[in-house]
Amino acid sequence: MPEIRFNRITGDSVIVATERSRRPEDFTRRKEQRKPPPYIPTCPFCPGNEDKAPPETFRLPAGGGWAVRAMANKFPALSAAGEVRREGTGFKKAIAGVGFHEVIVETPRHDLAPALLPVPHVEQLLEAYRHRFLAFYEDPRIEHVIVFKNHGESAGTSLEHPHSQIVGTPMVPGQVRARIREASRSFDDFGECLYCWCLREELAEGVRIVAEGADFAAFIPYAALSPFHLWIFPKRHVACFGTISRAEMASLAAILKEILLRIYVGLENPDLNYVIRSVSPHDGPVKHFHWYLSIVVRVSTVAGFELGTGMFINTALPEESARFLREVQL
Ligand SMILES: [Zn+2]
Ligand SMILES: [Zn+2]
Repeated sequence: MPEIRFNRITGDSVIVATERSRRPEDFTRRKEQRKPPPYIPTCPFCPGNEDKAPPETFRLPAGGGWAVRAMANKFPALSAAGEVRREGTGFKKAIAGVGFHEVIVETPRHDLAPALLPVPHVEQLLEAYRHRFLAFYEDPRIEHVIVFKNHGESAGTSLEHPHSQIVGTPMVPGQVRARIREASRSFDDFGECLYCWCLREELAEGVRIVAEGADFAAFIPYAALSPFHLWIFPKRHVACFGTISRAEMASLAAILKEILLRIYVGLENPDLNYVIRSVSPHDGPVKHFHWYLSIVVRVSTVAGFELGTGMFINTALPEESARFLREVQL
């Protein structure tokens, strides 16, 4: 019989196909993939075309060029100029669409996804994330900042050159607010951070752990919302990504690279998204929230049932997905 597992952290329910679940191997693409070239003269993110892209906001130099750089998004979702005004009367409610939207070019190489970058380079990418994350929050109009990566067409990317994005919004998005509220309620009920609790149980049980380092652990959650839905949690309780130390950054780079490579090799370079979930540095030391990185591999589609119920169907058993990724030969 299928099992409906409850995800205490997201507040979602997921139907897990326990008996007729697909084998992890069934999710590999098994189709010919075009390997991109290392350099494309017309690509706006390839070296030599810096002047064709919007003005740079951050750069980590390397040799005579750069390793990672950030710039405004050419087609921003929000406008950097203007005031946060709340508008509307009666039923209508709106806020002026003020905010920041930048692109972080991960490498000068057109063909190197983060799974293929050396660990020190992934660390530089994380340094760029942290820098822009904190810079966005310095603007008093910004209430929430989200760092994310879309890899592959079905994950929503339109430009092939490896890049991440960062968006600062003038309000806390509803889903984020709901999770913080849920975490706060759980803290009141149990007197402990929900995420620390989750991590402690995952580490004790071990069956869903994919990789573990000194400072971070990567696991497929008990109630994973989709096949290979994976979380990387810092072991130290801390609510804001911006407080990550130099040593932790090196640790995170190592585990993130390992996980992305396991996914890349095991599932043959699937499309995926990852997101850093964090509260604002202005919130101070929050006891009930815990920042983390979430990876969603795009091997299943959200359809009518999910849209109509907010429930998910996971056709893979989280324990088996974790074992599969753990056993990928690197
Ligand atoms: Zn390029
Ligand atoms: Zn915690």
